[in-house]
Amino acid sequence: MSSSATLIQESARVTPVRGSYDIIVAGGGPAGYAAALGAARAGVSVLVLEQAACLGGIWTAGLLPWIIDQHTRGSIMGELRDYILNQAGGTLVGTTLGVDPELLKLRLETDLLAAGVRLRYNTMITAARKSSDGRTVTHAITESKAGREAWQAKLFIDCSGDGDLAAQAGCGFDYGNEHGLAQPTSLGVIVSGIDPERLETELPRSIRKVKLCEFLREGGLEPSYSLPGLGYLGHGLFFYAGTHQYNRRFDDPDALTAALIEARAEAHRQIEILRRRGGLWANLRLHGTASALGIREARRIHGRATVTVDDIIEGRSTPRTVCRSHFGLDVHSPDPARTRGIDKPMEIQSRPYGIPWEALAARDCDNLLMAGRCISGDFLAHSSYRVTGTAVALGEGAGRGAARALQRGILPAELTDEDLATFTGDLADQ
Ligand SMILES: Cc1cc2nc3c(=O)[nH]c(=O)nc-3n(C[C@H](O)[C@H](O)[C@H](O)COP(=O)(O)OP(=O)(O)OC[C@H]3O[C@@H](n4cnc5c(N)ncnc54)[C@H](O)[C@@H]3O)c2cc1C
Repeated sequence: MSSSATLIQESARVTPVRGSYDIIVAGGGPAGYAAALGAARAGVSVLVLEQAACLGGIWTAGLLPWIIDQHTRGSIMGELRDYILNQAGGTLVGTTLGVDPELLKLRLETDLLAAGVRLRYNTMITAARKSSDGRTVTHAITESKAGREAWQAKLFIDCSGDGDLAAQAGCGFDYGNEHGLAQPTSLGVIVSGIDPERLETELPRSIRKVKLCEFLREGGLEPSYSLPGLGYLGHGLFFYAGTHQYNRRFDDPDALTAALIEARAEAHRQIEILRRRGGLWANLRLHGTASALGIREARRIHGRATVTVDDIIEGRSTPRTVCRSHFGLDVHSPDPARTRGIDKPMEIQSRPYGIPWEALAARDCDNLLMAGRCISGDFLAHSSYRVTGTAVALGEGAGRGAARALQRGILPAELTDEDLATFTGDLADQ
């Protein structure tokens, strides 16, 4: 083959099977953590495969530990809320929880280990092996410092956010809006050196985003995101999210590398501009930028039902509801020429709605569930159910449902209304 060839043929390899589990959870973010815990507590063996070196996804690796749509939820989300408010020194701002991401990392890990879940970090799912009829995933294939490995399970739950396992298994999916554009990415940043009480007085939440943008403009910078977020996490720490990177796909590492470099430089510049204002900002300090960009939107894997914006307008729920969502539409504009802020269709009034079990069950594989932001939904509905309080409830529902299906010896899609009632009771009604 000449040196200018653009494709190479790799030789076939034999891949070691490293373990066999009842359930494998792909990704240990908010949804994956809850899926693993929900399943393990129901008595099945669980492995979490996680590409990062911690649990928590956007909360920890993404440095955005700001939990929306959690306030009505009990079960695992309720336990986390108790921990955050009563032990971790976290905050409740309106109905949203803030917490030190480092404490959350430790807590999530402790919970899963105590429940007997096996964790494998630094391990990325890169392929899936299926049965000869193509309907069943038999192994998740991973790459790590240990090379290529295979992991067998009876059921899989894709909580990778991006729907990586499902896509590798050949499942259909949707991406972006009607023009194929997705919401921008943002970089999570942790800052300190602001008096939280003074911040509330001098820059209350109702005007904070608009004012922050004004301050940046006065400092000579047109921010890529016109509504920067700043929220108190406790212990003198704040999250800050002041950048948008447009039209960078989640599956284009070159574009994401460039976007991350731009975002990090802009975040440092924004913090420097604010610090130079003095007063409230005089001691502002940037503690850390996330090691990965926050991906708002990637694949929405095709399920056996799809959550639609009409469900949200009508406030629909069915007996097959896994959990309810109370958060409205929140579209960060995919098109900076239109706005660099939120592009909410103002005419749409949202109501609390139920997410049906079938939106978690992959249409194209019989033993594959999804939880978190990669479930089956349309562009607008995704902007509502993607928040992390909902992801936790979806994860717990998926984990419990998967365990129930295994214990009954049936496929997830075959669970009856009575089956669902046994494990969604305290999720669905919240
Ligand atoms: C910039 C930004 C700001 C946001 N702000 C908020 C907010 O303030 N409040 C809120 O509640 N929600 C917010 N959201 C929404 C929310 O963060 C996500 O929708 C939420 O993280 C969904 O949870 P998840 O578990 O599905 O995904 P994630 O948090 O993305 O977790 C996915 C996990 O899977 C792992 N993973 C991915 N691919 C693989 C693979 N191939 N192999 C192994 N592991 C893999 C990842 O490392 C990660 O740990 C925000 C999102 C973004 C991007």
